[in-house]
Amino acid sequence: MRPLCDLNIEELVATSEKYGQPKYRAKQIMRHIAAYDSFDEYTDLPKSFIAQLKEEYSDRPLTEVTRVTSSDGAVRYLFKTLNEDLIESVYLPHDYGNSVCVSAQVGCGMGCVFCASGKHGLVRNLSAGEILSQVLHIAREKRDNGGVNKIVMMGSGEPLANYDNTVKFIKLVNSADGLNIGMRSISVSTCGLPDKIVQLPDDGISCTLSLSLHAATDAKRKTIMKVAEKYSVDELVDALKTYFDKTGRRVILEYILIDGFNDTKADVADIKNLLKGLCCHVNLIPLNPTDNCSYMPPTKKRAYAFCDMLNSAGVSASVRRSMGSDVAGACGQLKNRTVEEKAKRNKKS
Ligand code: SAH
Repeated sequence: MRPLCDLNIEELVATSEKYGQPKYRAKQIMRHIAAYDSFDEYTDLPKSFIAQLKEEYSDRPLTEVTRVTSSDGAVRYLFKTLNEDLIESVYLPHDYGNSVCVSAQVGCGMGCVFCASGKHGLVRNLSAGEILSQVLHIAREKRDNGGVNKIVMMGSGEPLANYDNTVKFIKLVNSADGLNIGMRSISVSTCGLPDKIVQLPDDGISCTLSLSLHAATDAKRKTIMKVAEKYSVDELVDALKTYFDKTGRRVILEYILIDGFNDTKADVADIKNLLKGLCCHVNLIPLNPTDNCSYMPPTKKRAYAFCDMLNSAGVSASVRRSMGSDVAGACGQLKNRTVEEKAKRNKKS
């Protein structure tokens, strides 16, 4: 059984033809997928064809296990896939539109020390449809509140380590027959795989690209991110320059603030030096402390002072307001807690 929403328009045409149906069925199905209809709402399709689809495909690839709603309106969802893996997604309502933050993998193999998603390593890649259905589930629920206008691939997993499914997902969600979310309203966040960064525009992707920099020298970055052993910050900045040249899109650097570790005057100089000549903006994100590491965020005052130092040095930067941190805001924490509580209950019984 595979998610029906894994299929793009060409594959839906092929499926329709396989069952002796006219080509236009593909567009009809696409419309139902975009509305996240269940099969019994496919009323403009022959019943026999729906029965054939049901044998191979699922209209509900995710079931909601639990959710937590934050006082600021953010909702963190825990979903179960068809094979019972757990993944998290977040809904973030803003005045200017609603975003969904999606997961690209079950777990993560990148091993960043501060991150809860990578705590138990990579389990598997999510299919394009499994990524898409996180958005579809939430968009359907919120359809009377403006739906979903913006996607950020900043949930669990490394999108560029699941490259083909990430590209397919972006094309599906961007498609005029799908949710029609513009490239400018889609962000991909990566820990930094330079070969994949430069490949994206060649595959038709010109979304906002965010690089999780977090430290501006290789020596410092290696102490918190395993991927820094493989790629240098200079290689990454070169890849970002190429991405900008190919797409004309300003890139984003994400920089978590860890008290006393990467928020000093010397770090400002390293950041300025590294980002010279790159059209970019730095998003400062005070670390969300997780159960698995002892790092702490700086005080609010210190975070804003660091931001001011960057701006004074000519580096465009802002402190990101973090939403939903009262509901286990860092990705992977809701899943970890749910799994740990279940283990505890099983032990008791
Ligand atoms: N693998 C991708 C996307 C997922 S993580 C990446 O690395 O970019 C999304 C963002 O959240 C990344 O910038 C990541 O470094 C950051 N992040 C992870 N754990 C965090 C924490 N505990 N506090 C704040 N940000 C965190």
